Amino acid sequence: MFDNAKNYQDIRHAIAKLCSNFPGEYWRDLDRRMAYPSDFVNALTSDGWLSILIPEQYGGSGLPLSAAAAVLEEMQRAGCNGAACHAQIYTMGTLLRHGSEEQKSRYLPQIANGTLRLQAFGVTEPTSGTDTGALRTTAVIDGDDYVINGQKIWTSRAEHSDLMMLLARTTPQSEGAKKTQGLSVILVDLRDAKNSGLSIKPIKTMMNHATTEVFFDDLRVPRENLIGEEGQGFKYILTGMNAERILIAAECIGDAKWFIQKSVDYAGQRSVFDRPIGQNQGIQFPLAKAYTNMRAAELMVNEALSLYESGANPGAEANMAKMLAADASFEAANACIQTHGGFGFAEEYDIERKFRETRLYQVAPISTNLILSYLSEHVLGLPRSY
Ligand SMILES: Cc1cc2nc3c(=O)[nH]c(=O)nc-3n(C[C@H](O)[C@H](O)[C@H](O)COP(=O)(O)OP(=O)(O)OC[C@H]3O[C@@H](n4cnc5c(N)ncnc54)[C@H](O)[C@@H]3O)c2cc1C
Repeated sequence: MFDNAKNYQDIRHAIAKLCSNFPGEYWRDLDRRMAYPSDFVNALTSDGWLSILIPEQYGGSGLPLSAAAAVLEEMQRAGCNGAACHAQIYTMGTLLRHGSEEQKSRYLPQIANGTLRLQAFGVTEPTSGTDTGALRTTAVIDGDDYVINGQKIWTSRAEHSDLMMLLARTTPQSEGAKKTQGLSVILVDLRDAKNSGLSIKPIKTMMNHATTEVFFDDLRVPRENLIGEEGQGFKYILTGMNAERILIAAECIGDAKWFIQKSVDYAGQRSVFDRPIGQNQGIQFPLAKAYTNMRAAELMVNEALSLYESGANPGAEANMAKMLAADASFEAANACIQTHGGFGFAEEYDIERKFRETRLYQVAPISTNLILSYLSEHVLGLPRSY
């Protein structure tokens, strides 16, 4: 049914095999306890899957973005939750693209072998929300350090990461020409910081996501941890966001395939009124529609991947892929619950858990409205709305 995914068959088989050691019961148990899937993440780390995008010279596999997309899609398709560690694959991209040679040699080999986790990304703040340029966390130079004050919210995996890629204001907005100028990317070593000005507070959410609030109170970070040029951080973060959107779109495709397969299997064997429910077009059509929309979204993911790999920075395609794939996975999730009737709500079927997990991608890492707004302004040329 899904044999269009002809690329990276070896990777797909290896991920499916690894994921078979982490069945529904494993995720249900973690979900009940809101616990982090350490065994799953350790297995992916030791098999080298999380360093797939790190160049070989720094100890990674040096594979293109489409290989990482295959890894993440297959994890979701197997019913696992890649959100626990997907950022370890791509957050290092900011360091790789904009860091100095000294920074790359210092951090990337350890990120590649898994001794260092860089999977926390501190951009969103409680007051600024989507309006990144309005963020208030400041990094002020004092001697050889930046002194950081402020607060981030929704910093996922901060408790399970050694390093955080932080976006902070280094030039007050009053002195910067544009809101998006004067922001800088700083690599924060969370291990040192936890006892000297940084605190992390978990946020309980509708799905098990290990997300947190992070507070900075005169935290000192060496100036040498600045990535790239001061004041250029917004631009650096944006270049990484397209890769993130494409990879999350691939995860949504994997989710959609999981929901559709689960529904088709159930519809074929559940008998009501002495016939399989899958014989009813009322059950068939929502699944056929979800399948069609998933396949269309998958084409856009592939288009975004091939543009990205040809050296372009495809903002429009990355955003469209993310929106279409998130819509396709949510449509498939909804059809899956409907197909299962009451059993769709039972924990043991894993559907309600996956439904909660995939709902996130309508909002994060960018919400649908903001994608539509980007397309309206930058592709259609309509007047800026905000
Ligand atoms: C579980 C989870 C994990 C996350 N992980 C991270 C992370 O690791 N790091 C990080 O930095 N962030 C993270 N985020 C934050 C996420 O990126 C934001 O929640 C998202 O970008 C939306 O921002 P907001 O919640 O502040 O919503 P707001 O900006 O307050 O927006 C609320 C609603 O209003 C809409 N809206 C706002 N402005 C406009 C407009 N001009 N036109 C039309 N509609 C508009 C939005 O689309 C949205 O639907 C995470 C969020 C969640 C829930």
